[in-house]
Amino acid sequence: MPKRTQAEAEAAVRVLIEWAGDDPAREGLAETPARVAKAYRELFTGYEQDPRDYLEKTFEQVGGYDNLVVLRDIRVVSFCEHHMLPFLGRAHVGYLPNDRVVGISKLSRVVNAFSRRLQIQEKLTAEIAEAINDILKPQGVGVMIEAEHQCMTMRGVKEPGSNLVTSRLMGVIRDDPRTREEFLKLARQGNGS
Ligand SMILES: [Zn+2]
Repeated sequence: MPKRTQAEAEAAVRVLIEWAGDDPAREGLAETPARVAKAYRELFTGYEQDPRDYLEKTFEQVGGYDNLVVLRDIRVVSFCEHHMLPFLGRAHVGYLPNDRVVGISKLSRVVNAFSRRLQIQEKLTAEIAEAINDILKPQGVGVMIEAEHQCMTMRGVKEPGSNLVTSRLMGVIRDDPRTREEFLKLARQGNGS
């Protein structure tokens, strides 16, 4: 793909402003294309990161810990690849370690790096789970995401307050009913909903 310049991105924003029906030359919009182009760099930082790098630095397990590790309510800011509108919500990420654990901040960095791209929620959910599964090689992984899609709440069917819930369960979190139940219970506890 060609590396686009800031000037090209600004020109594209001016076209979209005209397409929306406004005049990109009017005073209030003069700086807008530059700001939008800069905001895009920040919103889409996922393309500049390899989320799997965050998981490479693992800690050997201490004390024979053999229970689920669940990080709940990780903020998700992502963008649907069909409309380029945000979908916002929370991810709950858990795994049952084998012999390696990872710093918890790394789990939220992985979610963030996969989110800050054009995505579909189902794929985002699977990518997070598969990265953890591939690198930590745990006994099981569970990822659940609940998010509100602005392409649905602002346009189209206009269903404010509706959340899309997706999950990807692997290993014992998928196959062992007790472990699955424990993950789902821990994942649901967070928000009172
Ligand atoms: Zn959409």
